[in-house]
Amino acid sequence: MPHIATTNPATGQVLKTYEAMSAEQLDGAIERTDLAYQQLRTTTVDQRARWMTVAADLLDAERDEIARIMTTEMGKTYASAQAEVTKCATAARFYADKAPGFLADEPADADAVKATRAFIRYQPIGVVLAVMPWNFPLWQVMRFAAPALMAGNTGLLKHASNVPQTALLLEDVFRRAGFPEGAFTTVLVGSDAVETILADPRVRAATLTGSEPAGRSIAQIAGRELKKTVLELGGSDPFVVMPSADVDRAAEVATTARCQNNGQSCIAAKRFIVHTDVFDAFAEKFAANMAALRVGDPMDPDTDVGPLASERGRDEVHAQVRDAVDNGATVLCGGELPTGEGWFYPPTVVTDLTPTMRMWSEEVFGPVAGLFRVSSYEEAIEVANGTNFGLGSNAWTRDPAEQERFATDLDAGNVFINGMTTSYPELPFGGVKNSGYGRELSALGMREFCNTKTVWVGEGAASAGAGAHAE
Ligand code: NAP
Repeated sequence: MPHIATTNPATGQVLKTYEAMSAEQLDGAIERTDLAYQQLRTTTVDQRARWMTVAADLLDAERDEIARIMTTEMGKTYASAQAEVTKCATAARFYADKAPGFLADEPADADAVKATRAFIRYQPIGVVLAVMPWNFPLWQVMRFAAPALMAGNTGLLKHASNVPQTALLLEDVFRRAGFPEGAFTTVLVGSDAVETILADPRVRAATLTGSEPAGRSIAQIAGRELKKTVLELGGSDPFVVMPSADVDRAAEVATTARCQNNGQSCIAAKRFIVHTDVFDAFAEKFAANMAALRVGDPMDPDTDVGPLASERGRDEVHAQVRDAVDNGATVLCGGELPTGEGWFYPPTVVTDLTPTMRMWSEEVFGPVAGLFRVSSYEEAIEVANGTNFGLGSNAWTRDPAEQERFATDLDAGNVFINGMTTSYPELPFGGVKNSGYGRELSALGMREFCNTKTVWVGEGAASAGAGAHAE
């Protein structure tokens, strides 16, 4: 049986457990979501925008309570949980505002295709399954749900098993906002139920944000069932610092880029690749900043880094650090497993890494930075791209020509110059290589789950199809 429960990572206490849905209950949930699709697809985009705006208002009004639940379920600091709720409300308003434009018919060159009129129409495709992770328990879901619902699709959420309360409250928000019953449905099931859901003919597509193994599994099932998927998987983002960089500022932003969300972000900078001319200065400042972060109760406003979300996750992070140290790496700060209750881990910087160490090639999902010394631009690119991942990337340089080169040469879904990778509703988000495929956010994210329909109109019966290529 899957263990679906709220367990406070700051104390290790199980606070609330849920029984997984039976096969009949799951079938009923899929049926409700499909029936809601038949209704939602006939509504106007303006109507959906009104509901989405109410959802944003509810999130704003209930921000503190929602944030408290998120912190209790997965340990992020309360302040960052509040900011996450606000970001979700902003994204909901963005799609309410922009969807009419994103979904408007797009004219094509009618003369070139021998038509009197030709255009592209964006239409919904049906029920979309969303398999989501716990690390940004509201934002990861909202960035799928807002564009999907605005397009007229309905959503079936299988959230991570450790954030059931957040999953249920989001369903409740969309219901109270006015969306038809079943337009956004949370199913309390384990990952073993995903195959059944994806194979169901009423479910038309799936989006997953999660680990590489989960991505491979869902892509395989979806391939067999011929269903569209978007996969947002892991990352081991490079953060390159070149000689012309503002080293103080880079070391400051690097600390946030590594430790935001207690170090559990797919787009956290994880590998710090520093030119030898500024290596020592950067290493000293970065390690000092990391060591100065306050680790503790995530509800305390003075806390910078709360606990990791699970004991298993913390054990894994520590095993990666131990593997490096046992094989000759140097720890500049942190690296010791704390005693006492809760799954805390200290901000840690490890250097002198070599390719056989786990930290060289694996994603580290906690507040642990790998520090690499390079002696040229070419070597920086080689180390930065020398990974199976390709999600985000960061480069620090004040040289405009170098900025251009990084923008082209970094093999990732995004490049942030003199800043840290983050997501905005306005910009597409996604990865290359084993970080997945497809895009979320912006107009592109909305159209991933649309039928991009070509409409061709001829002159009429007398000459219809004349000269056209029929398929
Ligand atoms: P995970 O184990 O893959 O879990 C994510 C979701 O997938 C959960 O709902 C989980 O359900 C489900 N799941 C797990 N194995 C599955 C399988 N074989 N088939 C179907 N569903 C499955 O990921 P995690 O370790 O909790 O989350 C961290 C990972 O997510 C990291 O690699 C991180 O980089 C990645 N991530 C990526 C992005 C992005 O945008 N690219 C954003 C955030 C996180 P259960 O909880 O029931 O197991």
